[in-house]
Amino acid sequence: WYQCIDKAIRWTDDRLVRMEIAIDITERKEMERMKDEMISAVSHEMHTPLTAMIGFTEFLLENEVDREQQKNCLQTIHKETERLSELINNFLQLQRLKASMVKFRIMPVSVGLLLADAAALYTAASRKHTIVVECPPDLPPVRGNEEQLYQVAGNLISNAIKYSPAGGTVTLGGRADDDMVVFWVKDNGVGISPEFQERVFERFFRVDNSDRRKVGGAGLGLTLVREIVAAHGGRVWVESTPDAGSTFFVSLPRMK
Ligand code: ADP
Repeated sequence: WYQCIDKAIRWTDDRLVRMEIAIDITERKEMERMKDEMISAVSHEMHTPLTAMIGFTEFLLENEVDREQQKNCLQTIHKETERLSELINNFLQLQRLKASMVKFRIMPVSVGLLLADAAALYTAASRKHTIVVECPPDLPPVRGNEEQLYQVAGNLISNAIKYSPAGGTVTLGGRADDDMVVFWVKDNGVGISPEFQERVFERFFRVDNSDRRKVGGAGLGLTLVREIVAAHGGRVWVESTPDAGSTFFVSLPRMK
């Protein structure tokens, strides 16, 4: 009887080990598939800025150009370089998060200061938009990783600029309730129709609109935002009206 039980236990153990190995292999295969998909999408997206950069630098090297033409070419090269840098940055961050390589250094983070810093950086980078910070000075801190949360604010502000016309205003705001601190990034840009408002957070998803396709991107920025916010125990969502503008909200647990 004991031998029977022993045999049954060993048989079950063996099955469990095999199941674990099978699950492990399936997970690893899924990770690899995602990685391949990501790499091919990113390389595809890298192609456009690189082609523009090569074309414009060749033009500058091979032609006698006046100051105005030189400035136009350099502006395009600068814009494309920024795009490339944003794409690579989002891609690497997402890979690191997915592979759980990021060890969060958690500390109290002031959302007000974070938004003010991000506003200063993007004001210097984009002189075509006005960035306004409307945040109460006594906003309580949240528990989080400053660098990652800065990336969240940065990606949302960068989108607000990308998807609104020159001369637009981007408003950054915040409020606190009992448990959460909520901050938002509001633009008066192209907006997102209701059927896409959930989907914009999916990997590689871009609203297919010929106008918007002119704006570079790989559809990774909001995915990264969602991943970081979720890792902080928070939530991100959007309220938007087509042709009127969008507001992206982020709620994070406040420090007790
Ligand atoms: P990317 O900007 O690189 O395409 P994101 O993941 O940041 O990728 O955004 C996904 C899509 O969501 C964008 O392609 C765009 O269609 C839409 N989107 C994001 N932010 C805004 C915004 N502020 N206003 C309008 N559409 C937006």
